[in-house]
Amino acid sequence: MSTDAAQPQLNWVFLGPPGVGKGTYATRAAKAFGIPHIATGDLIRAEIAAGTDMGKQMKAIVNSGKLLPDAMVQEVLQARLAKGRAEGERGFLLDGFPRTRAQAEQLVQSVDVGLVLNMSLREEVLVEKCMGRRLCRHCGKNYNIADIYLPASGGRPEIIMPPLSPPPECAPHLETRADDTEPVIRHRLEVYKREATPVEDFFRQRGLLVDFEITAGIPETLPYLMPLLQSYVGRRANEPPVKA
Ligand code: AMP
Repeated sequence: MSTDAAQPQLNWVFLGPPGVGKGTYATRAAKAFGIPHIATGDLIRAEIAAGTDMGKQMKAIVNSGKLLPDAMVQEVLQARLAKGRAEGERGFLLDGFPRTRAQAEQLVQSVDVGLVLNMSLREEVLVEKCMGRRLCRHCGKNYNIADIYLPASGGRPEIIMPPLSPPPECAPHLETRADDTEPVIRHRLEVYKREATPVEDFFRQRGLLVDFEITAGIPETLPYLMPLLQSYVGRRANEPPVKA
């Protein structure tokens, strides 16, 4: 496969806290725009599973819940991007990277980033959504039993998120992640805020950050998200962001 010169490069980044649905939206968007969804967490887990020397070093750090040193993440990410370029991929949708300002700087030095979508959701909803996550041990699918309704208040929009209910055959096999308890979720959100603020500031200063607040479920949100993303296709670096 070769890169079609008529097709614009799409180098996009999705940022967002745990529970916002970033992985799901990233998967849908990548598919719709014909670019790979590259999650550094997945690349790292694959390296660990392969049992390489680097994978062994990574395992200890990942299991402790800390971020990996930038050089290690860069190694797996750059290898993945190089493979994509060789195969004619027309860009990427990055998820889980950059996590630090240094990573953000390295990224913009090596590629023209066209868009950084900063997904957000009110904190009380994030907690409820994380607590409502269920995984079916049998079929491997993810569900969410949280049924969320928050009325509009203080200028903030109403939030309606119906549950993503498991079918009856999954009901006996549902599991909750060990780290999806309320104190652990609140801690993860604090850590995320600390990590993400310098990254958001970095991209905002460069006019690349587009804030996108989620106020509804996936089927209701996609009809807003997809046209927004479409408006960034072909946008060259350093052009002002299109108004959402
Ligand atoms: P995730 O699946 O994105 O939650 O990532 C799982 C783990 O991989 C994280 O807890 C980190 O230890 C590591 N990791 C993933 N992405 C990065 C990154 N950009 N920088 C440093 N560590 C990372």
